[in-house]
Amino acid sequence: MIPFNKPYMTGRELWYIAQAHSKGHLSGDGEFTRKCHAWLESQTRASKALLTHSCTAALEMAALLLDLEAGDEVIMPSYTFVSTANAFVLRGAVPVFVDVRQDTLNIDETLIEAAITPRTKAICVVHYAGVACEMNVIMDIASRHGLAVVEDAAQGIMSSYHGRPLGTIGDLGALSFHETKNIISGEGGALLCRDSTLAERAEIIREKGTNRSRFFRGQVDKYTWVDRGSSFLPGEITAAFLSAQMAEADEITSKRMAIWDRYHAWAKSHEDAGRVRRPIVPEGCVQNAHMYYLLLPDLESRAAFIARMKERGVQTVFHYVPLHSAPAGMELGRTSGSMDVTNSISDNLVRLPLWIGIEDLMDQVFQASDESLA
Ligand SMILES: *Cc1c(COP(=O)(O)O)cnc(C)c1O
Repeated sequence: MIPFNKPYMTGRELWYIAQAHSKGHLSGDGEFTRKCHAWLESQTRASKALLTHSCTAALEMAALLLDLEAGDEVIMPSYTFVSTANAFVLRGAVPVFVDVRQDTLNIDETLIEAAITPRTKAICVVHYAGVACEMNVIMDIASRHGLAVVEDAAQGIMSSYHGRPLGTIGDLGALSFHETKNIISGEGGALLCRDSTLAERAEIIREKGTNRSRFFRGQVDKYTWVDRGSSFLPGEITAAFLSAQMAEADEITSKRMAIWDRYHAWAKSHEDAGRVRRPIVPEGCVQNAHMYYLLLPDLESRAAFIARMKERGVQTVFHYVPLHSAPAGMELGRTSGSMDVTNSISDNLVRLPLWIGIEDLMDQVFQASDESLA
């Protein structure tokens, strides 16, 4: 069976972990964490990057930083992973779901203003498949209505929007290094602060609400409890693994892009024949080949495709159950406007295997797919 995902290792992870081991600093914020922060800050030009134990944790930090209160509303797509909503729900906020665009499957920016109420505090965008949302329009809406913008850039490392790395356009951005993403550490993530305004408080919230980081920089003479917070930082073993991956981020991205390009070229004849729709990457968006998906005509044809691929030894998957139709989403959130596009893509989308090492197996995947679509 050709698996849907296979985590890529550069070969240097254990060497870096051995160094962390021999240094004997295993808790967070040691040398490897600092190396990862420096890499992220130079890669993204964020004013501050902070490793977290997941993207979920980074989103929870963002919700804390925005000082959300019970009943505050956060506008977001319904077609996303559960953490996008849960991070805000944990603060008592209400997710307000709006539909996504047909082309990118990202939040439809033309529907955002209609979802704004006096309780709206923020917009949380999701850059699906590492392809940017229409951020110029979204940032303009946010500034006219005095709203914060959080980017769920879990899938967006190494992607950009008109030259700006994803996760650094809104006030705060959240990255994931989960093993299903492009750059990995098993579980892992990072919070990006676009400018310095929220950065100092982000450090405090990440360190259990203490000013420990300032203490270690010699900026205060004792460290103490100064704010709300929790423990959001990973240990050095995780950071050591991650730094091996970061060192190869360009190579990883170009290898994934080569696979993505092959899928895209192969799928063209099926698109021309009306059997599938391929991903669309708008002008100005540089994507990172996080995902290759196809849109099939309906739920039945997708189920048949997945079953036929499985018979032919290729694992393909679908996602997401739209949050507005999930039990917790119905209880804790609400929709604004129709969810037609969301409902339809959640029935029709299928993801094909995309991992470094699949190159030699792609003819087999293409043949299985050709037969499964015929
Ligand atoms: C993967 C993912 C997350 C969660 O990332 P974790 O690091 O596993 O917490 C959140 N949002 C989106 C859109 C994702 O794809």
